[in-house]
Amino acid sequence: MQQQAATGAEALEVWIDQDLCTGDGICAQYAPEVFELDIDGLAYVKNAQDELLQDKGAATPVPLPLLTDVVDSAKECPGECIHVRRVSDSVEVYGPEAG
Ligand code: SF4
Repeated sequence: MQQQAATGAEALEVWIDQDLCTGDGICAQYAPEVFELDIDGLAYVKNAQDELLQDKGAATPVPLPLLTDVVDSAKECPGECIHVRRVSDSVEVYGPEAG
């Protein structure tokens, strides 16, 4: 049960596939500490220093207090392009490729 595993203390990280991002900004509303729209109109993840990570496929750790907001973002994302995965084995636990 992957979802049960994700609710434990396992470290998770999140990345965005900008190729599919619609730029609606839902993720940045839900979790502005993690997601932000850049001037190109697409959403990017941020690191702990509040810097946008713009390399393709760049991932950032999901702070545990923000897990619900990040998961809700992945569920609501119209582009289905927010991917939350386990750091230990890179298995996606929330997002379009979650089992
Ligand atoms: S919710 Fe999804 S489609 Fe919308 S801005 Fe965020 S990453 Fe892009």
